[in-house]
Amino acid sequence: MTDSADFTAQFAALRGQYTERLANTWDELVRRVSGQGTDIAPSILRELHASLHKLAGSGGTFGFPELSRQARVLEVTVKNWLDDGRAPELAAWEAWKVDLLALHQTIRMDGASGAAVAETKLPASSLLGQREFVRIILIEGDQLVADELSKGLSQFGYEVTHCKDFAAAEALIRVDTPNVLIADIMLLGQIPADSTEALPSMFERLGYRLPTIFLTKRMDFPVRLAAAQAGGGAFLAKPVDISILAGRIEMLLREREHAPFRVLIVDDDEVLAEHYRLILEAAGMLVEKVCRPQETLAVMQNLNPDLLIIDLYMPDCKGSDLALAIRYEDMWMGLPIVYLSAEDDLNEQIKALNNGGDDFLTKPISDARLVATVRARAARARKVGELMSQDSLTGLLKHSSIKDRLAHELERAHRQGTVMAMAMVDMDHFKRVNDTWGHPMGDQVIKTLAHLLRQRLRRQDSIGRYGGEEFAIVLPECTAEDAIHLLNDIRQRFSEIRFIHQGQSFTLTLSAGVATSDQCVDAQSLLAAADAALYVAKDSGRNQVRQFTDDGGSSQQ
Ligand code: GH3
Ligand code: MG
Ligand code: MG
Repeated sequence: MTDSADFTAQFAALRGQYTERLANTWDELVRRVSGQGTDIAPSILRELHASLHKLAGSGGTFGFPELSRQARVLEVTVKNWLDDGRAPELAAWEAWKVDLLALHQTIRMDGASGAAVAETKLPASSLLGQREFVRIILIEGDQLVADELSKGLSQFGYEVTHCKDFAAAEALIRVDTPNVLIADIMLLGQIPADSTEALPSMFERLGYRLPTIFLTKRMDFPVRLAAAQAGGGAFLAKPVDISILAGRIEMLLREREHAPFRVLIVDDDEVLAEHYRLILEAAGMLVEKVCRPQETLAVMQNLNPDLLIIDLYMPDCKGSDLALAIRYEDMWMGLPIVYLSAEDDLNEQIKALNNGGDDFLTKPISDARLVATVRARAARARKVGELMSQDSLTGLLKHSSIKDRLAHELERAHRQGTVMAMAMVDMDHFKRVNDTWGHPMGDQVIKTLAHLLRQRLRRQDSIGRYGGEEFAIVLPECTAEDAIHLLNDIRQRFSEIRFIHQGQSFTLTLSAGVATSDQCVDAQSLLAAADAALYVAKDSGRNQVRQFTDDGGSSQQ
């Protein structure tokens, strides 16, 4: 990630480079055109058109908006001559040359004075670092309620610190920033007199915002509205169902922590491409640029981009043709493609969109617009991708996706000579939950285990909902001992979670089977091995973790 001082310096250097290049290109162009009569060769006209087109597109970006406008006027005139296929009229040609010289003058002056710097503002980089464990500050006036919530949340692996009011919380936040705030909304003060301002002004003093969940005894509309006005990310009734609370925490953290969007920029103009790269990187994205279109596919293979930005006009190939060539590959069918171009000819744009593009941005484009467009497009594409591979109840991978992931990780472990583990987890006597407490409560229990698994596992681990109340877990670079230790911890925590239904409460246990990559040659047999170990765990009385052993049995852990 580029920090702000770095960014400013890089941007200034880029602008300097741009100005220098402009001056050189234009001295040459003007020299060629100045003594030229109307018998100008079409090839030179095309060259002029290309240069003006580039200039119109990039000038605004680098802080030369007037230059950009003038270049656009000159460009359109040349385009008309080219389209007509005839030599320009003498008067028009002479007038055009006068304008070109004036433009040349502008470039030299702008360059010398280092005029108007582009409105490049750094988006605040507010990304949280890699999550090791999640810290929560709980702001709650009632000690008993606080104790109960702290205990419940700690079963999910959250570390909770309790404060009696917002002032104490603020002091604590300054010492060690938590990941999430949970607060009784009444502690914000009078509703709506104080409540609307209290939290935003605390965040203002701190200089950053924290995801916040409000708890409340009152569920009436004014309180609900106050929560929204204060910027709460969730609003839950007291007494709090701990599994629902854990779900909301999970959701808020995931919103914050999604991996950075990966973007590839294809533009023959290296300086401009670098400019866009810096802007998007400053907004927290991972960006690569390609200046030769023929390299695009190879770079895409490595980067696996969420979004592609293509310049419409490049010397070797049109952006719209490149888009079509990319779409020949099935794997890139759903990839959003955004064209960047100085083209304001509507027909060209429509043609480009017909060739498999999703959006069009006309240069010069403001930094804010670029970031907003890329973000919105990439986020939507990711969401669609997730919906296709994720189970709707739990947000975990679907049966087929977790099997794909397992095959992928197993192949890697064998290739790299490392050991990976996989586990099958199944709730004990789950049918009774449905029978006794109803199907919706059963769903709630399934979601709770999903949250617990997500919370306890590492980023590189994958979790899938294998069947109804059965989960498959893939643990890369993990020995059998570590996997068993981890699953026993999860088993213990899950058994301590108290589910509440209409004033009555119940608990539940789970069983798990573990197998490792050194025991099996392929994904199918690894799955079967973990399943066999799970079966033994069930058969030996449930509420336990078993490891697969090659002799057909499985050892007690
Ligand atoms: P065991 O300890 O042997 O695993 O017993 P069990 O009752 O947990 O296992 P069984 O496979 O007999 O029953 C699983 C039940 O899970 C049956 C099915 O109705 C229920 N189930 C499957 N999917 C869902 C779901 O999405 N929501 C709910 N509420 N129930 C589900
Ligand atoms: Mg079961
Ligand atoms: Mg089952």
